[in-house]
Amino acid sequence: MTSNTIAGDIQLVGLTKKYGSSIALDAIDLHIPAGSLTVIVGPSGCGKSTLLRVISGLETATDGELLIGGLPVADHDAGDRDVAMVFQDYALYPHMTVAANLSFGLRLQARHDRRGGPSKFDIAERVAQVGDLLGLEKLLDRKPAQLSGGQRQRVALGRAIIRRPQVLLLDEPLSALDSQLRASARGEILRLHREIGATLVLVTHDQHEALSMATHLVVMDSGTVAQSGTAETLFHSPATEFVATFVGSPAMNLQASGGGRVGWRAGDARLLGADAAGTAAPDGLLVTGITEMCEFTGNGQQVSVRDGDRNFALAQREGERWLRVGDPVRAVIAPHQLHHFDQNGIRRNV
Ligand code: ADP
Repeated sequence: MTSNTIAGDIQLVGLTKKYGSSIALDAIDLHIPAGSLTVIVGPSGCGKSTLLRVISGLETATDGELLIGGLPVADHDAGDRDVAMVFQDYALYPHMTVAANLSFGLRLQARHDRRGGPSKFDIAERVAQVGDLLGLEKLLDRKPAQLSGGQRQRVALGRAIIRRPQVLLLDEPLSALDSQLRASARGEILRLHREIGATLVLVTHDQHEALSMATHLVVMDSGTVAQSGTAETLFHSPATEFVATFVGSPAMNLQASGGGRVGWRAGDARLLGADAAGTAAPDGLLVTGITEMCEFTGNGQQVSVRDGDRNFALAQREGERWLRVGDPVRAVIAPHQLHHFDQNGIRRNV
């Protein structure tokens, strides 16, 4: 156990969580590296929240082992794990000021542990530090009702980090914010992660959030880990069709090929000129169809193409040929940009 006693390192070994006879987590093996910003994604009901709750100690695993900082935590209560969690529906104490909300946990600790707990001076200093870190300095005397949604969310984060946990768990922390606030909150979480140095584990259903923030991305499927690794690895080398279609937007195009399926990303198809019709296609997969729908995306165009009873997506960037509804399409995908899957949906490297 000596090789792996790193604060913030999380290791799940054959971890299972059952609710009655239903299996929420099915013998999960997963390593969440110390100091990583690990993002967990997956369809609703796949076990994301259960995973966070088991790590936090709010739920107890049915079977398997959980190590935090290299030590088995089975014997530790939630309060002793040095793990903090921020919920989707974070509830602040409405009758307390921001400062009192921030210091609540520390004051409790001081009362229970008079000798080892933090002093009044420590608490005031930490409130000031967290206030600075989260830009709440001028709001410390306000009550939650006098704050915006984004400010309340920052107080909830502050309340979690004031105890300097080695692990911070965030369950859909940005879902209550509108899209503009989400963008700035994403930036704040990245900055916070850099400054507090804790391992941050975040659950989201937002593709953009997942790909842009994660140093480590975990895709879950029916209580199992479908794949984990860097966002780049999962995007460029998905281990299964499930991961290929779940990570990235639009979903990877897939079509039958030699007993299995072949997939490609919308942005990897290169349009061939209209005058190329009838000429031999270059190396790679040739796809053809009729433009059915075009969406302007700001820096490009996302195009839906129909080929008989099949649809596929193309992405055209600024400066490339723009398509209009009804236009015929001929496009080619280079061999190295094709993803091959066998009949069970498992990646084949060819
Ligand atoms: P996600 O967060 O990915 O949406 P959850 O972790 O909430 O998924 O749930 C995983 C599975 O466990 C689901 O099938 C859900 O219905 C079930 N589940 C979650 N919590 C409970 C509970 N307290 N009692 C019974 N079943 C639960």
